Amino acid sequence: MLAEIVSSGLAATGCTVHLGGLAPTPCIQFTARNQRLDGGIMITASHNPPQFNGIKVLGNDGVEIPRQEEAEIEEIFFTAKAEHASWQRIGRKRALPEAHEEYKEAIKKHIDPETVGRKNYRVVVDPVNGVGGLITPRLLKELGCRVTTINAEIDGTFPSRTPEPRPESLHELSTIVKTEQADLGVAFDGDADRAIFVDEKGEVQWGDRTFAIIEEFLLERNQVEKIVTPVSSSQVVKDVADKHGAKTILTRVGSTAVSHTMKKSSAKLGGEENGGVFYGPHQPVRDGAMTTALVLNVMAKTGKKLSDLINALPRYHLEKDTIKCPINLKPMILEELISKVRDHNLSHDTIDGVKIWYPDNSSILIRPSGTEPLYRFYAEAKAKARASELVREYKRKLTAMIHP
Ligand code: MG
Repeated sequence: MLAEIVSSGLAATGCTVHLGGLAPTPCIQFTARNQRLDGGIMITASHNPPQFNGIKVLGNDGVEIPRQEEAEIEEIFFTAKAEHASWQRIGRKRALPEAHEEYKEAIKKHIDPETVGRKNYRVVVDPVNGVGGLITPRLLKELGCRVTTINAEIDGTFPSRTPEPRPESLHELSTIVKTEQADLGVAFDGDADRAIFVDEKGEVQWGDRTFAIIEEFLLERNQVEKIVTPVSSSQVVKDVADKHGAKTILTRVGSTAVSHTMKKSSAKLGGEENGGVFYGPHQPVRDGAMTTALVLNVMAKTGKKLSDLINALPRYHLEKDTIKCPINLKPMILEELISKVRDHNLSHDTIDGVKIWYPDNSSILIRPSGTEPLYRFYAEAKAKARASELVREYKRKLTAMIHP
């Protein structure tokens, strides 16, 4: 219904609308650039629960437009100041039947299909009844994989699990990977831009660790030089970059920040802790099918199992927590916290909240939630006790600031 409304609205202003139909967000992003369109629109709530929906607006390069441009569109919408075309100039709607195929073939060009094909990997795909089931299973079959797809029927009420792929919602995938003795399991979010992997032991691996194996593989082969990642990512991403003498560029949390920073700094690789991998040579946006192909490529080229690749990475313990904080107090608290950190001469970054690094390689990110009356803590350390200690310490400090 929303796709009909949006496409009719665009046609009324004189745009020719190319209808991609049901497709993963990264497929529409690829198509906008590949077909040299002026932009794109994706109707999706991404990883959010079924009662939500959303409209992602893309530029002519397929990247989501910056917040400022979104605000301009909202202004036109809420003031009803759109310019309508005269009847002779009303736009047409055209189908885009080739979009899936062109996107799928483009992904193959960035990996070594012969080497992957020789391995005949067994892969289980869980697209959460979303559009991820439309292309990736076919792509993997063409790459010589033996594919089992679960939750493949398209159903926007997401009856199988929550659309956000998280360790606690992937029991079914993990069980089937084990019973099928598969080499890999992959779970997408609702619009298949994020991918979370399950190793051959049935263990769900968090996004920044799978990103780090792709990062390591590409850095070793000099295919990338700079790494873009949000300040919330694990230290492992920077450790891998440091090992290869590569620069890590930190961004605010959110996929558009990563994409726009990649464009500005001509970086070819970006990654988020939630399963977003941005492979620039394909497109500087997160892309679940491309990520799956990259993971299989790393496994095939190195001849290693996913669990072995992951276990070779430096290990950190992560502790997360929140504290209630009235929305109006948030900016003041952040200012006070930053000035305290400066007074203590701690190594820190204030791109999004404040992230503090300690000499023992532990760190903590303290960040006001964008939508809720909360502050969030993400502490990481080699030892679990140290990560918990950091969370306790800063929870105490913030409590004292919120209730002086
Ligand atoms: Mg998404």
